[in-house]
Amino acid sequence: EGSPERHSKKKVVAVVGGGLVGALNACFFAKRGFDVEVFETREDIRQAKIVKGRSINLALSHRGRQALKHVGMEEKIVSQGIPMHARMIHSLSGKQSPIPYGKKGQYILSVDRANLNKELLTEAETYPNTKLNFDHKLQDWSAETGLMTFVRPDGSTEEVEADLIVGCDGAFSAIRKQFLRRSRFNYSQTYIPHGYMELTMPPINEEFAMKPNYLHIWPRNTFMMIALPNMDKTFTLTFSLLRDYFRLPAQAMVSVKCSPYHIGDKCVLMGDAAHAVVPFYGQGMNAGFEDCIVFDEIMDRFSEDFNAVLPEYTRVRVPDDHAIADLAMYNYIEMRAHVNSKWFLFRKHVDNFLHFLMPRAVIPLYTMVTFTRTRYHEAVERWHWQDKVIHFEKMRFLIGTVLHCVMWPVLMASALMVR
Ligand code: FAD
Repeated sequence: EGSPERHSKKKVVAVVGGGLVGALNACFFAKRGFDVEVFETREDIRQAKIVKGRSINLALSHRGRQALKHVGMEEKIVSQGIPMHARMIHSLSGKQSPIPYGKKGQYILSVDRANLNKELLTEAETYPNTKLNFDHKLQDWSAETGLMTFVRPDGSTEEVEADLIVGCDGAFSAIRKQFLRRSRFNYSQTYIPHGYMELTMPPINEEFAMKPNYLHIWPRNTFMMIALPNMDKTFTLTFSLLRDYFRLPAQAMVSVKCSPYHIGDKCVLMGDAAHAVVPFYGQGMNAGFEDCIVFDEIMDRFSEDFNAVLPEYTRVRVPDDHAIADLAMYNYIEMRAHVNSKWFLFRKHVDNFLHFLMPRAVIPLYTMVTFTRTRYHEAVERWHWQDKVIHFEKMRFLIGTVLHCVMWPVLMASALMVR
């Protein structure tokens, strides 16, 4: 930590997309000493007046923090975020009920997307073996040669070659198009009927309008609203609503699953380019950041041999990214089906209570996903197993109670008769 190898060596790695995952990934590859070139379609957001993009703020949790730690950035980013220790559920009557995210001291962080992206780009640039190329939109690339064609704002094109292409160009990835042309590439994308819209809640008398250290949730039947705090004492409100709810354009939400994540030893997909998930588990960026750690760990195991690393990355990572995509979709459906604050409150209290009683045996799914690096697919398996055990115990208790009630008078009666 803190003393990356800053000598330039060997192969050229092209990271396409300088968003959250691309900028972080550039640091990971630069730290290993590769010649890193980042190509980003937008202008440099650090100089731009208005930063276009999705959600204003995001929830950063354990997996994302671990990835930042790998490149020595955890403390800096954490210091610029606002801890959220609990959800604050707003019921229809206006009542507010906090439900802690985990144990005492466990929290998720509200971070500003644009600021995080800027910090990551600046960090990537501190490596002399990294070059950031803005205003470069990938148009096409060749899986055989690794030759990429970029379009510049003036319409001119530029051709660039690389040993490894890392596709971090988001949910509508241009890199992924080449994958779609190939045999045995599985791909699915699903748009959910709801869209989202963001509004800002200003401070009142220069103070936060609501309690700041919470993620506020208004679960309702036809829509849902959440609010995350910002450093400037505003809140960003995100509505999830059916498209024409306010007769205003809502942004679409898409889930993308695919496999494999690589082509030969030439190209690999990470972040939303590999797995866009609907935002109902607050894990999209965290999963993308964790992709970088997983890839890095495999690079160690296979001595940076792309021929071995890329297939292994697909083997290891696909089940986990698919699991979080499914979980996020499950939460979307579950929340709509039972969006009723009493039910939500009850479920969370039961989960937390069981965890308190049996901290090793019962770990809430949310805790495994948010506060550990338990592989996503293992967290899901364990959750199903816990559910079965809890169900079994419930049945045992019921049967025990029934037997007790029925058998006890019978035994008593026979005992009296014997006498
Ligand atoms: P992106 O952030 O989309 O970045 C892709 C980059 O590639 C962009 O900079 C783009 O300009 C560039 N690009 C695109 N095409 C090209 C091209 N052809 N050539 C060159 N460059 C290109 N995740 C969480 O972990 N927690 C949350 O709380 C959370 N909340 C969310 C709320 C909402 C409403 C939404 C929509 C998402 C949320 N997410 C959250 C998910 C998170 O935003 C994404 O998972 C994350 O942004 C993925 O990062 P990325 O770098 O893979 O993709």
